[in-house]
Amino acid sequence: MILGAHVSIAGGLGKSPLNGVKLGCESIQIFTRNQRQWKTKPLASDEVEGFRKELDHSGIRFVTVHASYLLNLGSPKDKVLTCSRDAFCDEIERCEELGIPYLIVHPGAHVGSGETEGLHTIAESLNVILRKKKGYRTQILLETTAGQGSSLGYCFEHLAEILGLLDDPDRVGVCVDTCHIFAAGYDFRTRRSYTHTLHQLENLVGLAKVKAFHLNDSKRELGSRVDRHEHIGRGHIGLKAFRQIVNEKRFSQIPMILETPGGEAHYAKNLRVLRSLSM
Ligand code: ZN
Ligand code: MN
Ligand code: MN
Repeated sequence: MILGAHVSIAGGLGKSPLNGVKLGCESIQIFTRNQRQWKTKPLASDEVEGFRKELDHSGIRFVTVHASYLLNLGSPKDKVLTCSRDAFCDEIERCEELGIPYLIVHPGAHVGSGETEGLHTIAESLNVILRKKKGYRTQILLETTAGQGSSLGYCFEHLAEILGLLDDPDRVGVCVDTCHIFAAGYDFRTRRSYTHTLHQLENLVGLAKVKAFHLNDSKRELGSRVDRHEHIGRGHIGLKAFRQIVNEKRFSQIPMILETPGGEAHYAKNLRVLRSLSM
């Protein structure tokens, strides 16, 4: 397992690899821009160089970027959709410049237009973006969601449908967030439920499409549709479930990123808990 956490970029992007190492990470997730703003300055070349150099020396094996929460690639409103696609193009450009392999995004929300329409809009957004950014090496990872509000991606069928509508599906994969799938109703606490959920993922999406995990316990119960992360082992998912995941041979070479609450102060502890489950 290649464990890590979402680390802060306070003090500059170049600081993030070492921040991760100090916490005990082998992989990190970052934002590359302010999450509350649509517009941001382009990356300066010394920022890019600094990040690449620090990353090279750090021993961090994977970096993922989480896209802004503002954007909605499934919006039925033209203005929001245009802003979202533009912002997402900027996100993927930054990743490409920084040499980051994965850009993780919540697929989108239909905001009343209905699920079918929403899923088609999301696929169209991805097609537009991938066409604009031809030849980029950064892959887009669609994150499973808890299904709050009208957000899509709370079932594996949604992800399968979007992937099936893409012109260039090899450039898009999936990030499984344990809190989100649990809140969406997928159980994996017992051997039996774990096997069943994995089968569904395999049959609908394909395990080869799963390029990253977000490891979070859940404050809320199975099927609550509420996205509230909890420290590993302290929520409704529990240690037994995480033991099955961190010992899963088929996921041993992909980044598994913590997004637990309380920020960096608690990551080291959560990483220790996860490592203690390894058999
Ligand atoms: Zn996310
Ligand atoms: Mn997540
Ligand atoms: Mn979440």
